[in-house]
Amino acid sequence: MSDFETKAKELAEFTFARCKDSCPRLGMCCDDAQCEMALAVLERYSSTLSTVDRSIYLEALEISRNVDMVGASRTARFLSADKTCKLPPHMRLFCTFHQCDIYAVAQFKAGFNGMTIDEATDHYYKLREKVDTLFANRVKDLDNNEEE
Ligand code: SF4
Ligand code: SF4
Repeated sequence: MSDFETKAKELAEFTFARCKDSCPRLGMCCDDAQCEMALAVLERYSSTLSTVDRSIYLEALEISRNVDMVGASRTARFLSADKTCKLPPHMRLFCTFHQCDIYAVAQFKAGFNGMTIDEATDHYYKLREKVDTLFANRVKDLDNNEEE
């Protein structure tokens, strides 16, 4: 697993610990529009995907096409019954970064994982910055090539 994948997974697991403590309905933040956004980002950077990620992406694309074709009404096309996403955290960064406390007041509203509010918030932003940088590094060459 690359650093990018490892850190994105770590961030998703960290925020999920807060979700488990506080959420009235886990996964209620997921919706089709965000699933589509994740797909659009993957399409944009598809040439940077590893072989494994590419096969996950193609599978997700197929799910998406089938949902569109049958016009099925779903709250989120990639959410499984057990409330996990078919896309791993590094393949849907907008979702991985999301946690209700952070989006409401830019910090956690309670401590968790043995951390105070300040410690947990600081940990979140440091991890998020790291993931952001690793993503930027991954796509830098692609963007440079397109500018030439
Ligand atoms: S976490 Fe997965 S299921 Fe939820 S909105 Fe994001 S891509 Fe969709
Ligand atoms: S991000 Fe918010 S809505 Fe989504 S699972 Fe966590 S607490 Fe619940």
